[in-house]
Amino acid sequence: MNIHKFEVIVVGAGGAGLMAALYASKNADTAVISKLYPTRSHTGTAQGGVGAALGNSEEDHPEWHIYDTVKGSDYLGDQEEIEFMCSKAIATVYELEHMGLPFSRTPEGKIAQRQFGGHTNNDTGLPVRRACYAADRTGHMILQTLFQQCIKNNVNFYDEFQVIDLIVVDGSAAGVVAVELLTGELHVFHSKSVIFATGGHGRVWEITSNAYAYSGDGVAITLRRGIPAEDMEFFQFHPTGIYRLGILITEGVRGEGGVLLNDKGDRFMEEYAPTAKDLASRDVISRAMFLEMQAGRGIGGNRYMYLDVRPETVNKYAVSDGRQRPDGTPYIVTAEEILSKLPDIVDFCRTYIGIDPVTQPMPVQPTAHYAMGGIPTNKYGEVLIDENNTIMPGLFAAGEVACVSVHGANRLGTNSLLDILVFGKYSGLKAAECAKGTDFLSLPDDPTDFTRAQLNGLLNTTGDERPEIIGGEMKKVMNDLVGVFRTEEGMTTALETVRELQERFKHVRVDDKGKIFNTDLLATWELGNLLDLAEVTAVTALARKESRGAHAREDYPKRDDKNWMKHSLAWLRDGEIELRYKPVVITKFEPKERVY
Ligand SMILES: Cc1cc2nc3c(=O)[nH]c(=O)nc-3n(C[C@H](O)[C@H](O)[C@H](O)COP(=O)(O)OP(=O)(O)OC[C@H]3O[C@@H](n4cnc5c(N)ncnc54)[C@H](O)[C@@H]3O)c2cc1C
Repeated sequence: MNIHKFEVIVVGAGGAGLMAALYASKNADTAVISKLYPTRSHTGTAQGGVGAALGNSEEDHPEWHIYDTVKGSDYLGDQEEIEFMCSKAIATVYELEHMGLPFSRTPEGKIAQRQFGGHTNNDTGLPVRRACYAADRTGHMILQTLFQQCIKNNVNFYDEFQVIDLIVVDGSAAGVVAVELLTGELHVFHSKSVIFATGGHGRVWEITSNAYAYSGDGVAITLRRGIPAEDMEFFQFHPTGIYRLGILITEGVRGEGGVLLNDKGDRFMEEYAPTAKDLASRDVISRAMFLEMQAGRGIGGNRYMYLDVRPETVNKYAVSDGRQRPDGTPYIVTAEEILSKLPDIVDFCRTYIGIDPVTQPMPVQPTAHYAMGGIPTNKYGEVLIDENNTIMPGLFAAGEVACVSVHGANRLGTNSLLDILVFGKYSGLKAAECAKGTDFLSLPDDPTDFTRAQLNGLLNTTGDERPEIIGGEMKKVMNDLVGVFRTEEGMTTALETVRELQERFKHVRVDDKGKIFNTDLLATWELGNLLDLAEVTAVTALARKESRGAHAREDYPKRDDKNWMKHSLAWLRDGEIELRYKPVVITKFEPKERVY
């Protein structure tokens, strides 16, 4: 058996995993295991920016950032954790700058900032420039910068190793089991601390901005080991994915002055959010688009709207909004400026749909984007295994896979890149500290038995079901019935379908029986994860009889703080899902109605 021993094992080499590894490696022997080559992680696709109240272009304060995040979360975010994250934002961004991250700059040479949805001047309610960016490639720059730092710090990397199982000994994490993609061999990684940083699970839905790798491995692995998942009913739909493809068009487009238009050419967000308009929070805009399309005002009666960032449109609405540059001059953009601030967006549209955003509006529709729910943790990344917040020794999670919860029922744009940096760092520090205070636990006789049972189970079925067909049916039903709007009837149908698909999945056929780069086998294993997470999402969403943030029910259209101001916890027990709840942490801000 291949056995490796490290004090700290980080599963995942995205922003959260690399930041965790960087900090853990300062104090402990650390290795990163990643199914992708590190710089292919989804963090590298993040476009718009990372939020920090630097106040470089206009007045801003961490307190405003805190309040906006609480409000954006529809009051489900834990306020102590939100205060922690937002108050560390400024130092975190400067730290990345000092590591060499090439941020875009103001004319005076400071880090440039742009507007983003839900980030406001708390006195006026108007959008504030809080998103620090590197053109529309912010995540790419973060990933490259952190990877270089990890290499410099001699972090050990196991690239293209896919983790299938968590080793648990007497209630503590003791390592993980992974498949080496090149050889198909199993490897045991024995450790004192394990940090899951495996990203999200947007591939549950048909139209999504998420990478193929977003198959929810971390949450599925831990669910199978008796650890609950928190707030899984909350999944964010970003308003602007390219029609049919789902590829993201950053909110930064609207931050630069782009507007959403319906078939009549009306800027419909003026109706739905009179103050923040096109920069209201994402749940609010996705619902408005959905309602416009339902009323027949999609473009040409179709299920998409226009996102218009042509200079003449931007300049027209900048006049009616009274928008100015930071120096007080009128806001007038040129084609060159759009190109320099949004080069990748322009490129994507030209490449994938043959549209030039400088001269043509972009066809967009809501796209499944971000998992607010995940593995429950505290602000040091320690995994919490029940409603009393009991800590599981040796286990940590950070980034999109975790639920701290700072995003509550709806995440604000730019707060995920901040989340991965802040909680990546603190989980890395804590994991190393805990590792220094304990000994390695003895491994079970055969730590690989559950992994082999899962993979051989898939290789040895006699059935004829095709994974891509099962996956396609799951994605469609989740998109249609557990998407932007939900009803009891629709979600019940979706749940029944997902459960039928899980039955059919038992008879799935994997054609490739080989060992070398068996992506057929691993993609099928990933589909099993997605099916489990789809089921948990539908069950938790059916149970929550209210509308809050990204969870919008037509049959319960109001938020119900009396009964539902609480986090859900879901366990997978003998094939059944058990639900329990825990309170939301409220410090300064009592819940009130959200108005944008
Ligand atoms: C298109 C797009 C644009 C975005 N833009 C922004 C933005 O502008 N601002 C913002 O704040 N947020 C943005 N987000 C959200 C944000 O980028 C992500 O939430 C964040 O980067 C996730 O980071 P992570 O480190 O948690 O996961 P990732 O970067 O996805 O890393 C996950 C890692 O886990 C590894 N992994 C997964 N499963 C396994 C396994 N079983 N075994 C081994 N390794 C595994 C992968 O190889 C990968 O290295 C965007 C998201 C998308 C999809």
